[in-house]
Amino acid sequence: SDHQLEYPSEPTAEFWKPFYPKWPADAATQVPRFADVGCGYGGLLVSLAPLFPETLMLGLEIRDKVEEYVKQRIDGLREQGCEKGLAPTSAGSYQNISVLRSNAMKFLPHFFAKGQMEKLFFLFPDPHFKKKKHKARIITPQLLAEYAFLLKEGGLLYIATDVRALFDWMVTHIDKHPLFQRLDQAAIDADPCVRCVLEETEEGKKVARNAGDKFMLVYRRLPTAEVA
Ligand code: SAM
Repeated sequence: SDHQLEYPSEPTAEFWKPFYPKWPADAATQVPRFADVGCGYGGLLVSLAPLFPETLMLGLEIRDKVEEYVKQRIDGLREQGCEKGLAPTSAGSYQNISVLRSNAMKFLPHFFAKGQMEKLFFLFPDPHFKKKKHKARIITPQLLAEYAFLLKEGGLLYIATDVRALFDWMVTHIDKHPLFQRLDQAAIDADPCVRCVLEETEEGKKVARNAGDKFMLVYRRLPTAEVA
């Protein structure tokens, strides 16, 4: 249960050092800017890592065995990068991705500061079909306020699912939120992360194998002043 999950009292750069042990102290950023919430087996992180080699990224996963798997997967990739002699901030070093076991619905503001995040991914989240369980969904009005707080102005929130009812639920709530605006289709098509979202996540691959539909959208975090 959550009782064993540890979290810092407030976000600090110091906290992340063990997660990115080879990351140079003079790199542009020392804290995660992308978070994959409910990262599962880590396919998104692994595919994004070489596309944004100077950005720190974190997967959050609640299941300990899954988190352990992702850790080992990243360790293996990092070792290969070291054998090739790659610098930590170069593509293929995988020094920029890591994973944390946590309950993302409870503890995010303990890890990330206001405006810290450039991208938040919510990909193929658990659908929680029953009406009584809707409050357990990862997109709710309360949590959206938190995501808006953590995203920098202009930052992006990605959603994807194969469950039409869940998609409609997420879109309804995000559309209603004054701090989020849908990206138009041209902007979505131009975003290099979109292919990774749809094709490199383990769930996305599973849906493709079963020839199922995938629904996805991207929202921009609006500047607070423009809304007020
Ligand atoms: N995003 C991955 C993908 O697309 O392949 C995994 C999708 S899987 C259906 C949902 C994942 O979210 C599971 O691995 C689950 O353990 C994790 N999860 C569910 N609730 C969570 C929470 N509150 N905090 C962190 N992870 C959570």
